[in-house]
Amino acid sequence: MENNNFILQEILDFKNISYQLGSNLSLVQAAGGNTSMKSNDSMLIKASGTWLSNSLKENVFVEVDLNSIKKKINNEQDDNFSEDIISKNDLRPSTETSFHALIDFKYVFHVHSTSTIANAISFNSAINLKKQLGDNFAFIPYIRPGFPLTMSMKNIIKPGVQIIILENHGLIVAGNDLEKTYELLLNTHKKLDVIMNNNFSFVEESTSEDIDEYQLKNDKKYNFFKTTDERFFSAFSKSFYPDHVIFLGPGVPTFENAQEALNFLNKLKDKNLNLPPYIILKGVGLYEQNSAIPAAKEMIDCFLEVLLRTNFDEELKALSESQENELLNWDAEIYRQSIN
Ligand SMILES: [Zn+2]
Repeated sequence: MENNNFILQEILDFKNISYQLGSNLSLVQAAGGNTSMKSNDSMLIKASGTWLSNSLKENVFVEVDLNSIKKKINNEQDDNFSEDIISKNDLRPSTETSFHALIDFKYVFHVHSTSTIANAISFNSAINLKKQLGDNFAFIPYIRPGFPLTMSMKNIIKPGVQIIILENHGLIVAGNDLEKTYELLLNTHKKLDVIMNNNFSFVEESTSEDIDEYQLKNDKKYNFFKTTDERFFSAFSKSFYPDHVIFLGPGVPTFENAQEALNFLNKLKDKNLNLPPYIILKGVGLYEQNSAIPAAKEMIDCFLEVLLRTNFDEELKALSESQENELLNWDAEIYRQSIN
């Protein structure tokens, strides 16, 4: 990279770990997740809309003025930090830049770990997480990502805390040693990684229904979406974390039968609205729209991993309609989505 704030080897090692995080679908899906590295005066952070999995083959990082961003956080001044960019590569810093600057460690890794999300979407999450992880983590109640999240973290996290769990969102791990921080992240993910829902009832050979512009996903992996068990089925149409809303829409539409689905899709077509990348027919399974983008495909797999690890004996906490709407109408998100 272009300046004297970082040692070249340090940048290579950081990019390598970023690539490894980005290549692990249980941790990072599509343009989600972000990593950063600080020097005294600047911070290298993943750019908005770019994929961590591309860390080694293209430029996905932006260098920003750390002190200027810290000053804005202290003054509670919401900003997209475009004036703080040092790099000359036409990229914008991640929508989650402000919390990276806030956390006082050299390395900050933020992932949408499926096991962490599965354990952070019930009303008892904070208590249950303590049983699994001990006391050495901070728990941040759900708030829209971006500046509101950073302001909330500023009030909650105590100095020295290296593990931060974001309710209905994901995991942040920070540290001053690259390898140890990476290990801490993997260990935290692993401790929470328990499949809870191996046993679900479904009809193996259901009568598949033809739906124009959609294909039934017949891969065994998606059998969970064939279940008619009401407590699972009712969760399919809900959204539990921001990127689900951004890339799949607010919940995957579910239908009791094909006619219901056709009526819904025809209404969207009449109004020239985008068709949802996925729909679910009760007892039949998951249908993928023919032009579903790669980001949506990674996000449906994320949803499946989360649901298989969710304890359905707990009362689950889905995002509310107003929380979904504030995500969909957030300018920074519209930009991020536009480059995917
Ligand atoms: Zn996030």
